[in-house]
Amino acid sequence: MREPSNSQTESLLLQKKAPVMISACLLGIHCRYDGRHASCPDLIDFVTTIPFIPFCPEQLGGLPTPRSPADIKGGDGRDILSGRAKIINADGDDVTEAFKNGAYEALNLARLSGSFIAVMKDSSPSCGLHTQYCEKPSGFGIGIAAALFESSGIRIFELRSNDTFPTRNFLKLIEENH
Ligand code: SF4
Repeated sequence: MREPSNSQTESLLLQKKAPVMISACLLGIHCRYDGRHASCPDLIDFVTTIPFIPFCPEQLGGLPTPRSPADIKGGDGRDILSGRAKIINADGDDVTEAFKNGAYEALNLARLSGSFIAVMKDSSPSCGLHTQYCEKPSGFGIGIAAALFESSGIRIFELRSNDTFPTRNFLKLIEENH
């Protein structure tokens, strides 16, 4: 299958007016638990030409910044959605409802905007597809916002701040959905 070029991808996204949901910390927004960001320079360059929606599910859920780091206990994001797991922060507080509310608010943004693809920060118990901040036999599980997006049919591309972007997988993802 022929790979779309960057300009073709950008054109497709603009034609469809389908914004990409993007974890705000990857765009240099200081929304992480420690008040810092996790900016990805390649991503910041790429989004200058496409519609996108920055979002931080933890802030959308009403949590402050900075805030105590939190781990998923008793499973991962999917287990939270099914009521089998919780999120407990470093102070021992149960912040499950805030994390869930933020994930659903992020999904509302995606639904309102017609977004069907998300670029999400790795490792996070909210945004990560593979987070170590959970309790799964493999040592890794999915974050709660990522689990909700996944179960709602939104395609997720997981990104680290030092990754090159866009990758072939991302370009294929765009092509498959148009
Ligand atoms: S990984 Fe997600 S929840 Fe965490 S700071 Fe970034 S956008 Fe917010």
